[in-house]
Amino acid sequence: SYEQILSTRKSHLTPNLVAHFKKPLVIHAGHMQWLYDHEGRRYLDMFGGIVTVSVGHCHPKVNRALNEQIETLWHTTNIYMHPKIHEYAERLVAKFPGNLKSVCFVNSGSEANDLAMLMARLHTGNQDIITFRNAYHGMSPYTMGLTAQSTWRYPLPGISNGIVHVMNPDPYQGIWGGDACRDSPVQTSRSCQCQDSCQAGVEYYNELEQTFKYSLPRGRVAAMFAESIQGVGGTVQYPKGYLKRAAELVRANGGVFVADEVQTGFGRTGNHFWGFEGHDYVPDIVTMAKGIGNGFPLAAVVTTPEIAATLGMALHFNTYGGNPMASAVGLAVLDVIEEEQLQRNSLDVGTYFLKCLAELQQRFELVGDVRGKGLMVGVELVSDRLTKAPLAVPHVLDIWETCKDMGVLFGRGGLHGNVFSFRPPMCIGYEDVDFTLNTLETVFDQHMK
Ligand code: PMP
Repeated sequence: SYEQILSTRKSHLTPNLVAHFKKPLVIHAGHMQWLYDHEGRRYLDMFGGIVTVSVGHCHPKVNRALNEQIETLWHTTNIYMHPKIHEYAERLVAKFPGNLKSVCFVNSGSEANDLAMLMARLHTGNQDIITFRNAYHGMSPYTMGLTAQSTWRYPLPGISNGIVHVMNPDPYQGIWGGDACRDSPVQTSRSCQCQDSCQAGVEYYNELEQTFKYSLPRGRVAAMFAESIQGVGGTVQYPKGYLKRAAELVRANGGVFVADEVQTGFGRTGNHFWGFEGHDYVPDIVTMAKGIGNGFPLAAVVTTPEIAATLGMALHFNTYGGNPMASAVGLAVLDVIEEEQLQRNSLDVGTYFLKCLAELQQRFELVGDVRGKGLMVGVELVSDRLTKAPLAVPHVLDIWETCKDMGVLFGRGGLHGNVFSFRPPMCIGYEDVDFTLNTLETVFDQHMK
C-alpha cells in the first residue's frame, strides 16, 4: 500500500533521495508522455525523469530492442567485443561534426564528466579546470568540484583542487542583460536590438578574458566545461557568440573545451541535435547521458582520436559501459528520434510552448522570465519584476504541487528553486502543451487571489 511504501522508504532508503511534494508520488507505470500513480491516476510528465525519458516511457520500439537483446546476450564487459557496441558507436559518432569520432561508453553523466576531466588533464598535461557558477556537472567526488552550487557540494577535502568557477553569463539574473542575447523564438519588451554582437555577450566575454589574464596561473588550463543551456542552474541560456569565443580563448591558453550535453543533447533544443551547434562552435570533448538511454543507464564521452589516444596510456576500465543491453537501447533511441522526427517536434511544439508562455507572462506579474529552446523550457517566478527577486519558496512549492494535483508534473531549478523546468519526452503534442498552459493559468490565477 501507499503507506507501506512511505514507511519502508523512511526506514530502509538513505534520506538523500528527495521525495518531491508534501504528498509524495508513487509511480507504478508509464507510457509515452504519461505516468500512472498507485491509484491509476494519470499525470502528464513534463519533466521526463529529469530530461531522461527522451522518446517516451516504455516506447514500444525501444522495449522491443531491449527485449530482443535480453534474450540474446546481456553482458560481456569490455574485455570481449560484441557487435552491438560497434554498430552503436558508428551510429552515434556519425551524429557529430568535425573530428569528434571516438567514443567511450560509461553509465552516468557524472562518470562521463569524470572521464572528460581525466582526458583533458592527460591530453594537455595541465590541471586547472574552469566551470561556471551555478553549473551542475555531477555528484561524484571529482565532478562535485565542477558543480558550482552549494546545494550539491559536500565539504570533502580537495574537491576544489584545480577547479575555478567563473562568472555565469546569465542574461536575466546576471549584471549584463538583454533578451536578444539568447537564441530564443520569444521576443519580449526586454529584447535588446544588438543581435549577434550583443553587448552583454561581449561584456561577459571580457570578464572571462580578464580572469585568464590576471587571475589564473598562466599555462595551467586543462579544460573549460559548459552546459549548452544550463539545466539544473535554471535553464540559463548564454549570450550568442559567448561560448564560441570562450572556446577559442581556452584553446589559446592550452586547454580544451568540453560541452556537457547531458541535458541538451539528442534533439532536445529543437533546431540542432546538439546544444553546442546552437552556439556555432565545435567542442573538443562532448559528454552525454540521460536522454541517450531513455532511462536505461547509459552515458558517453565523444572526442577526437588525438584526445582519445591519451586513454591508451592507462588501462581505463568500467564494467558495464556500453554493454549489449545499453547499446541496443541506445541504437533504438537514435532510430526513434530519426523515424519519428522528434527533434523537429521538439522545435515545433517547444516554440509553440514558449510563445504561449510569453503570453502568460504578460498576464501574470509573478512570471519574471520565460526562456529556453525546443523542449528545454524554463519559467522563472519572481516576487518583483523589477528587482527579479525570487518568489518565496512556500509559494513556489504551493503552485508546483497544485499543478501536480491537477495532473501536470515538472521540475524546479535555479539557485532559489524558483525556475520551473519543463523537459518532457520529445513525443508530446500541442494538446499536451495546452493542458500544461491551462493548468498553469488556473493555478497562477488562484495564487493571485
Ligand atoms: N551534467 C548535467 C548537465 C546534468 O544535468 C547532470 C544530472 N542532472 C549530470 C551532468 C550528472 O548526471 P548523472 O546524474 O547521470 O550523474
